[in-house]
Amino acid sequence: MNLFEMFWSVQGEGTEVGHPSVFVRFGGCDLRCAWCDSVRTWKPAESCRVEREPGSGRFDAWDNPVALGAVVDAVRRLQGDAAGLVSLTGGEPLLQPEAVTELAAALRGQGSRILLETHGLEAEALGRVIDQVDVVSMDWKLASDVRRESDPREGEPPAFHEAHEAFLRVAKTGARDDTELYVKLVVTPASRDDEIRAACERIARTAPDVPLVLQPVTPSGPVREAPSGQRMLELVGLCRQQLADVRLIPQTHKQLGIA
Ligand code: SF4
Repeated sequence: MNLFEMFWSVQGEGTEVGHPSVFVRFGGCDLRCAWCDSVRTWKPAESCRVEREPGSGRFDAWDNPVALGAVVDAVRRLQGDAAGLVSLTGGEPLLQPEAVTELAAALRGQGSRILLETHGLEAEALGRVIDQVDVVSMDWKLASDVRRESDPREGEPPAFHEAHEAFLRVAKTGARDDTELYVKLVVTPASRDDEIRAACERIARTAPDVPLVLQPVTPSGPVREAPSGQRMLELVGLCRQQLADVRLIPQTHKQLGIA
């Protein structure tokens, strides 16, 4: 599999926030989010950096592709005594569905709990991996801030709502009974009410009981500004007109200055 990095930290986003986790970051992504904090994962990685000791911030470099057994061993070493949460992130993990399935199955067999963080557009790939996933964290991308790699750089690309709805349907109907699922929507100053309302309409008719996490963008790199707290409250109210479980959760790891 092509990986960018493996390290230990604490999950900083979404409904699993606060749980210690090993992160396995896949290389390669076909989207270009304006706020992306992982731009070096856009292309498959030449080498994978692997943290030596959990939380040390010191890394060894492994050549790609990385073998399944080596990844499993590294995750177990970073977990220490207790198998716990493993976050499969990117890049976009679902561009490598066979690797995700094999890795998740091996780690679950040793007691780990698998969180899949995905851009939420690869419905067919999700169907292939979902049996081995314990928590699906799917993004809902807004065209005001996100385009595909293949889209023209100028102008607003087509909305992602249809592909997201198809993905959500697979996540809702194809998952085991005990698999958890939430939708995460990153809000920037450019995010518009009409596109957020359209996302909520799709979620309400496909999976009305699924939590929607509104995540204000964290200013860093090219992102200069976050939406105000008042704006976020307005959006919570807007989404609650259609959805029962709406949560406002910022990126806590960035507030703490950790990975
Ligand atoms: S989907 Fe994730 S990795 Fe890909 S561009 Fe967006 S934020 Fe970056």
